[in-house]
Amino acid sequence: MTLRFGVVGTGAIGREHIQRITNTLSGGEVVAVTDINQESARNVVHQFQLNANVYPDDKSLIADTSVDAILVTSWGPAHQATVLAAIEAGKYVFCEKPLATTAEGALSIVEAEVKHGRRLVQVGFMRRYDRGYVKLKEAIDSHEFGAPLMLHCAHRNPEVGEQYTLEMAVNDTLIHEIDVLHWLVNDDYTSIRAIFPRKTKYALSHMQDPQIFILETVGGIVITVEVFVNCKYGYDIQCEVVCEEGTMRLPEVPSIISRKDAKLSTEVLTDWKQRFIDAYDNEIQDFIDAIRKTGQPQGPTAWDGYIAAVTSDAGIRSQQTLEKEPIQLCNKPDFYNH
Ligand code: NAP
Repeated sequence: MTLRFGVVGTGAIGREHIQRITNTLSGGEVVAVTDINQESARNVVHQFQLNANVYPDDKSLIADTSVDAILVTSWGPAHQATVLAAIEAGKYVFCEKPLATTAEGALSIVEAEVKHGRRLVQVGFMRRYDRGYVKLKEAIDSHEFGAPLMLHCAHRNPEVGEQYTLEMAVNDTLIHEIDVLHWLVNDDYTSIRAIFPRKTKYALSHMQDPQIFILETVGGIVITVEVFVNCKYGYDIQCEVVCEEGTMRLPEVPSIISRKDAKLSTEVLTDWKQRFIDAYDNEIQDFIDAIRKTGQPQGPTAWDGYIAAVTSDAGIRSQQTLEKEPIQLCNKPDFYNH
């Protein structure tokens, strides 16, 4: 069976995902779209020559019986209501991050899914599908290097626009590390603390840039993440895992190494879409394949979305206090242990 998608939000990432479902991946088809900007939704149908209905809102799109799965790519504050409505209708959901903008909102989705009794939701934490992170996880899980003790990570963007806020350094940027790192080391966070180093002259006037976050886990692992969103030189994601018997790093992006004018050089990407292009393909292909084969998604869960929301809230609190802020999760429903 083909998994028939209804897309809510036809902005930048919505179009990217529609393009990959339509032209790159197999087993999925976009049959319905909606956007608060109806013209944008109509344009997408035309642009990708979709055989798809355009709906005035998410509720009417979800009610379409020809839609199996809802792809939520609207802006963050709208995600929670759409995901809850989809679960209510018993439809699968692939939701871009954030699952919800508050921990309470994410928890309401967890509760709705548990009540439904079967997994429906996958959150778009695509780094878990990046080849480099997958290799790192395999190495950690093999115990060949001993227990992980420390992680040193960096998330650098060349620049961000005026609309970027202090909080977005956590809930828009750091959120990817928040998700992938606890998955990588199979542990839960206990605290987060923000540190503000000397400010770059390129920082937006309302922003602290760069920032460092220190996350600690139940097992005592200490993780440092540098978030530097006006680093100028490129889009650069770094992760080094220090274990008892050795260290390992995320591989660099494949690129030619050139020698010219007495210089040895290699390329650094500038566009985040290019850095994780394979991971985006892989996560949605996995969503389609898992549902077709087993009747439920197997990628990042609503519980992972909840962990990200709680950790993100604590990170934003620490930006205000510059103190270590506790990360307290409610009891994990057994539903998410299988
Ligand atoms: P965007 O270009 O602003 O697109 C969002 C679209 O949703 C816009 O067309 C917006 O319309 C529309 N919209 C807003 N509220 C809506 C509603 N209630 N119902 C239907 N449509 C609505 O933003 P984007 O960059 O695509 O980001 C979308 C989401 O994906 C965000 O949550 C973002 O964090 C996430 N994202 C994730 C990644 C990743 O790496 N996983 C990367 C990029 C984005 P208007 O323009 O008229 O407001």
